[in-house]
Amino acid sequence: MTKIYDLHCHSTASDGVLSPTEVVQRAAEQGVNVLALCDHDTVCGIDEARLAAKEMGIELVTGVEISTTWEGRGIHIVGLNFDKTHPKMTALLAQQKALREKRALEIGEKLEKAGIPNAYEGAKTLANGEVTRAHYARYLVQLGKVSNDGQAFKRYLGQGKSAFVKAEWVDISTAIETIQAAGGMAVIAHPLRYKLTGKWIRRLITDFKTWGGEAMEISGYGQTKDQRQMLARWANEFGLFGSVGSDFHFPCGWVELGKNLDLPEGVEPIWERF
Ligand code: AMP
Ligand code: MN
Ligand code: MN
Ligand code: MN
Repeated sequence: MTKIYDLHCHSTASDGVLSPTEVVQRAAEQGVNVLALCDHDTVCGIDEARLAAKEMGIELVTGVEISTTWEGRGIHIVGLNFDKTHPKMTALLAQQKALREKRALEIGEKLEKAGIPNAYEGAKTLANGEVTRAHYARYLVQLGKVSNDGQAFKRYLGQGKSAFVKAEWVDISTAIETIQAAGGMAVIAHPLRYKLTGKWIRRLITDFKTWGGEAMEISGYGQTKDQRQMLARWANEFGLFGSVGSDFHFPCGWVELGKNLDLPEGVEPIWERF
């Protein structure tokens, strides 16, 4: 029997809505055999997820989604199968946590100027760990300022909007180096979601490969067949392994754990290197 892999999802340790236990339970219900929990810049959910995975009889891969800055843009690098207690990883995540807190406060100040007071406190009540923009988006929906999360990014939180704060995250090469120092592998997350042109995506993959990165996500949610094929071609052209992940954040009609994540033929799966 071929296994079902989902190597990218979120819990309440970052901006997911289900607890690590609930995510693992849901993954098991969906028939996932191997799951990586990849919360934003934190491994705080891993211990709980590992316990639940043991109980549910599924394999848990230690994961993280590191926010990086590349050419002035935010790019996400997933780390898989590493030692989460490695001092270099611990130091990097502590640094990212401090950056996130500082940025969250600045976003709150900008929202205040845009006529929405106490948004930091509001977003904080929705967060278990660090405040992300997703928590701000949910708070803005709760206030009735916007009708959904997407609108919150379009009106306030997205690049160039009134409450946008440019974050100086770690750079890609440091993220790769740290993941590898901790014994893991680095993956470019959702390459088609950065609104980059083909030329810029190729530039990103070239840099990532030059800095020693190992893999890129090929199969995710909401892709066309052509997009998946294009990503598969790039992975082969640049000599990268392929990964798959739903990027599940919460139960909804359009993203599900482990659903429709087959890796196209001819791409080398990253899990063969675990
Ligand atoms: P942050 O890491 O704080 O910048 O928050 C980014 C998170 O916000 C992403 O991981 C997504 O979960 C969420 N997000 C980003 N853009 C959008 C969008 N347009 N609509 C809904 N959620 C979004
Ligand atoms: Mn997220
Ligand atoms: Mn991401
Ligand atoms: Mn993600």
